[in-house]
Amino acid sequence: MDYVSTRGGMPPAPFSDILLAGLAPDGGLVVPAEVPRIADRLEGWRGLDYAELAARVIGCYADDLPEDDLAALCAAAYDPAGFADEAIVPIRRLDDEISLVGLSEGPTLAFKDMAMQFLGQVLEYALARRGGTLNILGATSGDTGSAAEYALRGKHGVGVFMLSPQGRMSPFQRAQMYSLTDANIHNIAVAGDFDACQHLVKTITGDAAFKREHAIGAVNSINFARVCAQTVYYVWAWLRATDAVPAAERAGFRVSFAVPSGNFGNIFSGFLARRMGVPIHRLVLATNENNVLDEFFRTGVYRPRAGEQTLATSSPSMDISRASNLERFVFEVLGRDPERLREAWAGLERDGVLDLSAEQPRFAAEFGIVSGTSTHADRVETIRRTHEESGVIVDPHTADGLTVARRLPEPGIPMLVLETAKPAKFPGIVAEAIGEPAPLPTELQELLDAPQHVVEVADDAEAIREIIARDAVR
Ligand SMILES: *Cc1c(COP(=O)(O)O)cnc(C)c1O
Repeated sequence: MDYVSTRGGMPPAPFSDILLAGLAPDGGLVVPAEVPRIADRLEGWRGLDYAELAARVIGCYADDLPEDDLAALCAAAYDPAGFADEAIVPIRRLDDEISLVGLSEGPTLAFKDMAMQFLGQVLEYALARRGGTLNILGATSGDTGSAAEYALRGKHGVGVFMLSPQGRMSPFQRAQMYSLTDANIHNIAVAGDFDACQHLVKTITGDAAFKREHAIGAVNSINFARVCAQTVYYVWAWLRATDAVPAAERAGFRVSFAVPSGNFGNIFSGFLARRMGVPIHRLVLATNENNVLDEFFRTGVYRPRAGEQTLATSSPSMDISRASNLERFVFEVLGRDPERLREAWAGLERDGVLDLSAEQPRFAAEFGIVSGTSTHADRVETIRRTHEESGVIVDPHTADGLTVARRLPEPGIPMLVLETAKPAKFPGIVAEAIGEPAPLPTELQELLDAPQHVVEVADDAEAIREIIARDAVR
């Protein structure tokens, strides 16, 4: 399998070469040259456990890794010992139409673990094979950073330098990250907000000599290895949703997915699964009040907003107004034509708007994507109602997905809502909805009580350069 850039300016490269890549060298996003088809193989995969299935699905993309090695990496990434549920991704039925796909059983209780756990394994493996090292420099407002740290803790050849805004994370997020004691994990609390942290990362990675000297890299949501690891649970969920369907009716038995969305990473993986031939009817994209993506899918006009126009909501991991993975979808809409993509993006940068309204009818008809917006009041009502009707407590992001899914029912087609986080992480809104916070698992209580390790620094790139120069893995 070769990988190319959406903007056409990258020589075809194999999976192992794009593993560490953020943006393609021409500023585009890395995509597979063609999408593998798996419709004929699905039935043969029915008896596999999650790790075995992951090796098959990821193997379609990582075809330059030896099969046995990939199987071992997936077995380590999706080891039941690291997940709260033995199934890794349990499916829980809420009512006749709707089920929850449990993506938050991993170490940080949120769906980013699903891809990061694989990435941690494959990074260590690739670095060992090449004899290199990598120092991950990132900024986090909470969730992404902790998923990266839990995936990379103790990994050989990898260091993690994670900037977080001092005093702006929840007690739970702080405890989750700062309680880690692994020698290769460096938590750095910056006197500033999340934008300041991001700016520091840009400044430091913009210094090409420093970046090269300390082998600095990133593992953000545009990383294709993350995207392909996320396609696995769409295949898994379809298999589990059709286990009870008579064998003769399984092929082509369609289900829909509802996806709480921010950077368009998760739902793009679903889009890929659909392209690969998994019988997916609709992909229902749910946003919160930061509804740039809902607007795009309803009108065809994409109008990203500036950071200061992004609202702080009660589903904070979706507070995003510029969806970094959307370029991959637009590439498909424009017939995978890099020239048209470059023109579209030049226009977006010039005018701040991308107008694809002429193509909008295809978004649902051809690509299966429909969308909706959910507000704080919707989340509260959905958490309350779901708890009352089924006894299940959902987190606010999952509640956004459920809210929009319930607005767009399709008789006879099961709706699988992706559960992207555990409710215990969001005590405030859960208490508002049902009168008390979700019960705290004992491990979490212990985590909150554990000593914390974090270095506090000024909003100053030089201070961070010094820390990296001193502690980088080499
Ligand atoms: C990151 C995240 C999302 C959004 O996923 P994208 O891939 O950015 O669209 C939704 N819910 C939770 C809990 C998250 O952490």
